[in-house]
Amino acid sequence: MSSSESSEQKQYFSTELLSWYRRHKRDLPWRRSRNPYHIWVSEIMLQQTRVDTVIPYFNRFMDKFPTVAALAEAPEDEVLKAWEGLGYYSRARNLQSAVREVQERYGGVVPDTKEEVASLKGVGPYTTGAILSIAYNKPEPAVDGNVMRVLSRYFLIEDDIMKGSTRVSMEKLAQELIPEGAAGDFNQGLMELGALVCTPKSPSCLTCPVMAHCAGRAAGMEESLPVKTKAKPPRPERRYAVVIEGAAEHAGRVLIRQRPAEGLLARLWELPHAAVPTAPAAAEARGEGGDPAAAHAALAAHLAGDGLGLGPVGWLMQAEHTFSHIRWEMDVYTGRLEEASALLLPVPLPPHYRWVNREEMEQYAFPNVFLRILNAYFGR
Ligand code: SF4
Repeated sequence: MSSSESSEQKQYFSTELLSWYRRHKRDLPWRRSRNPYHIWVSEIMLQQTRVDTVIPYFNRFMDKFPTVAALAEAPEDEVLKAWEGLGYYSRARNLQSAVREVQERYGGVVPDTKEEVASLKGVGPYTTGAILSIAYNKPEPAVDGNVMRVLSRYFLIEDDIMKGSTRVSMEKLAQELIPEGAAGDFNQGLMELGALVCTPKSPSCLTCPVMAHCAGRAAGMEESLPVKTKAKPPRPERRYAVVIEGAAEHAGRVLIRQRPAEGLLARLWELPHAAVPTAPAAAEARGEGGDPAAAHAALAAHLAGDGLGLGPVGWLMQAEHTFSHIRWEMDVYTGRLEEASALLLPVPLPPHYRWVNREEMEQYAFPNVFLRILNAYFGR
């Protein structure tokens, strides 16, 4: 690529993309204002999540927490509940703790300098660029995987986009491309082109506003770019879970518990579950009907740690949940607690356990996999 071609190609890209975006942009709720708080929340929600999924969550979240102050003051459990189903819950926790910092340190006004925005919890280089450019129209690049895909194709860049050095050079390129005074619209145009036209599979080059100068397309490489080394697939982890059914005054309820304050899915609610002890051999036996004796042994040993005894269990269903690095493959059973003694006294519950029925479930935030199991259980 000679330097004159390069600058003409860049100029063309910037001009055409900006005018295309202004004509074709989708009407999305967070685009109706330049409120930095709205932009921030939307960008956090949109990480790893599709626009269509985010829209109702964003609207509900803004009804509930319309301002920085409202989110800063809200109990964390309410925020997690509003996030329920979006996954990656650390995003919600980091967002709230950063919003609290904005409330305390900046009087509730989202700051407008790169240093201050980038120092907020959970706000990486992409989100920093998005907030500064969209809300404040500052010429900062906002480069994520979608943007790197578009730039790799248009400029025929064959560097591995999983490498940090590629991201740095893409950020430099993206910054050079920003037309004067139009950072917000240009960055959104890049994201929009990646979402609607220059899609991961089968890009719609024939309707693309920058096709005339797209080097990747000219070389017939639009489908093979970007170069991306494969991330490691999530490691399967087999687990037994149990829906413990209540009796007597807890009839119609099931037992849930809260996860610890730190670590995976922190503070969310779940059904008791335990790892399958010898996964490789047991994996072969996985199937409808499960292995109630093995499941009982593992779950009973696990619950004994909380002072609870478990009666016999029966098969309910299978369920799966994929995190970025682990995939839980669950065999789910139903069962009851054993009474504490021959006097049939009710078992005292540890403080992080609750009995809930279908309505009471609504007050607690669950990871998707447990919501699916509980909905299937109560919907039987
Ligand atoms: S022409 Fe095709 S490959 Fe090039 S930017 Fe447009 S959609 Fe992407």
